[in-house]
Amino acid sequence: MTNKIFRAGVQLSTIVVSLCMIFILMSLYAYLNREQEKRLADEMKFLEAGFQLNGLSYLETLEEGDFRVTLVHENGAVLFDSKGDKAVMENHLNREEIKNAFLKGIGKSQRTSTTLLQKNTYLAKKQADGTVLRVSTTTISPGGLVLAMMTEMAAVLFISLLLAVFLSSKLAKNIVKPINSLNLDETDKNGIYEELSPLLRKIEKQKKDIESQIERIKQKNDEFLQVIGCMHEGLVLLDRERRILSMNKAAKQFFSIGEEWIGKDFLYLSRDFKLKEMMDKAEEKGKSKFFMDKGNRKYQLNLSRLLSGEERIGTAIIIFDVSERALAEKSRREFSANVSHELKTPLQSIMGSAELLEHKLVKKEDEAEFMAKIRAEAGRLLSLIEDIIKLSQLDEGRGLETEAVKLPEVAEEVLFLLREKAEKAEVHLKLSEEEKDIILSGNRAMLTDIIYNLCDNGIKYNKKGGEVCISLSETKEEVEISVKDTGIGISAEHRDRVFERFYCVDKSRSKKTGGTGLGLAIVKHTVGLLGGRIELISEVDKGTEVIIRFPKEKSLS
Ligand code: ADP
Repeated sequence: MTNKIFRAGVQLSTIVVSLCMIFILMSLYAYLNREQEKRLADEMKFLEAGFQLNGLSYLETLEEGDFRVTLVHENGAVLFDSKGDKAVMENHLNREEIKNAFLKGIGKSQRTSTTLLQKNTYLAKKQADGTVLRVSTTTISPGGLVLAMMTEMAAVLFISLLLAVFLSSKLAKNIVKPINSLNLDETDKNGIYEELSPLLRKIEKQKKDIESQIERIKQKNDEFLQVIGCMHEGLVLLDRERRILSMNKAAKQFFSIGEEWIGKDFLYLSRDFKLKEMMDKAEEKGKSKFFMDKGNRKYQLNLSRLLSGEERIGTAIIIFDVSERALAEKSRREFSANVSHELKTPLQSIMGSAELLEHKLVKKEDEAEFMAKIRAEAGRLLSLIEDIIKLSQLDEGRGLETEAVKLPEVAEEVLFLLREKAEKAEVHLKLSEEEKDIILSGNRAMLTDIIYNLCDNGIKYNKKGGEVCISLSETKEEVEISVKDTGIGISAEHRDRVFERFYCVDKSRSKKTGGTGLGLAIVKHTVGLLGGRIELISEVDKGTEVIIRFPKEKSLS
């Protein structure tokens, strides 16, 4: 703005000064012209008076001066000329001033000389004897006047230009200074330029509008960041050039990056070819998804094209951790395969024995043994089916009614149920002496199942003369159930796997003892449902201890 005002000031001054000079030159020229004509007329009066008295001889006595005097005959011949040789001079009848003098008595004309810088002014008058007396003088032409004044004009122009530059710069600064120091926060407190008031009021209104809009956008952005920050799923928003616009915490953790990646190209972050392919697909078709393994976890990435009207403005990537789902699907598949296999084996054995009996291919004395085998396999089948039903009920979370359970009572009940089995196996089954009246808020049937399964294993995987001991104890926070045996123990490589469904360390021993491989899986599942945790301590040939801890406040109430 300062520059504009400055330039306008200089231009205006230059134009004004130039126009003034042209006007002065024109006035000066007109004045000179008038003066010249006056002088010619005065001179003519003198000459006429002398010529009338003395005729041509008067003219010949004239001294050479500023004026040129010519006498022309009626026929145009020059009779006298004060500055030229009349003998060589051409006929003057065609000269404008001469022609007019002959016709009207007086004639005037002006002609520019050959140099263009001068001009001749003529005044001719018809005399009483029929001749025409002409007087002329040479003066400066307009071009000559300009040329003559050139230095002065240049000096004036130069000085005016300097002045214009100085004054315009001062003027521009003076005009702009108050505008620059305008207080846009309190527009009513700006005393200068009344004309700016409507503009300032408009600016103030727009400023308020923008401030409230920014506040609203900020609030929305905060809400958005809070929502995406709380999401367990990773969220990445990309612009149409695939640069990262925003990322939530989960996504940053997934890619192990920080805030510095905002604004960078997403494909630098993950050079996974599949991801690029899926991004192209999402941009083209609107949606795409694919799975990605990271560490020992499995993730699903859903890509969606973002549109504003018809125009693509970016891509959203949502990252789901599907490890649990994948694991559950895998174990469901394995479980179904295991169930079919485990059910098939005893059934095939039953079928085989029954066929032999049916076709009387079994000796009379062996028949009883075959029937006992059928009975044992059928029994195994039954316990398998019972266990499977129990597991599926646990999977569904059924039967979780809670009550205050007296744990010593449950332990006594288990002792009673397993006394016979323990006696047969020659294992001493007992409840630790220190037990008190411990009450746990939980599900009685489930707790019975847990202790029963652990004691059953203690008997099954024990040695003759061995021992299984149930201990119950409690602290301020926890209730602890321990089932410890002096049996065969579990080697380190099996310890972590014994809780898997259908996992048996020694298949043939399990078969003999009626094990299904589901007992510990049921225990673990039940403990989990009741909010407890499980610990297994075991040493080969020395024995096994399973400790279960239930938090008092977490136990079901
Ligand atoms: P099962 O019905 O075969 O006993 P479990 O799930 O109860 O199935 O146990 C899984 C496996 O863990 C068993 O096959 C056995 O080899 C081992 N096991 C469980 N409890 C004990 C224990 N107290 N001592 C030694 N091994 C055990």
